[in-house]
Amino acid sequence: MTLVGIRRACRLSANGGQLGKAQMERKLGLRECDRCGASITSFCPSLPTLSSVGNYVKGPRDVLERKIAEAECVPLDVVREYVRHRIFLECEKVFGICPNCGQHLATRRARQCLACYASRHTDAP
Ligand SMILES: [Zn+2]
Ligand SMILES: [Zn+2]
Repeated sequence: MTLVGIRRACRLSANGGQLGKAQMERKLGLRECDRCGASITSFCPSLPTLSSVGNYVKGPRDVLERKIAEAECVPLDVVREYVRHRIFLECEKVFGICPNCGQHLATRRARQCLACYASRHTDAP
């Protein structure tokens, strides 16, 4: 193979690599956080990724985030949002209020009040 031929092959494989990565990027939607109700990424790492990064949870936060981002081919800011709301639970938990007795419900979406046992059937917080 000539030098030009080799260069061309490299460029082709580099392009192929980019294409492969783009195809691997997931369609990332939004979901409501169970705790704070904010609209956050619906991204969730696969089980193999979660188990492979298990050892990093106690280490530096940015290392953990980068490991997940690399393993899942998602942008780092998406991983940060996921980690903040769903691993370290740093967002403020919002409780629902019982319309019957005014006590805090267990979660913002709780269907039944643990204080008076009244149940509610709407999704409204
Ligand atoms: Zn949250
Ligand atoms: Zn109640």
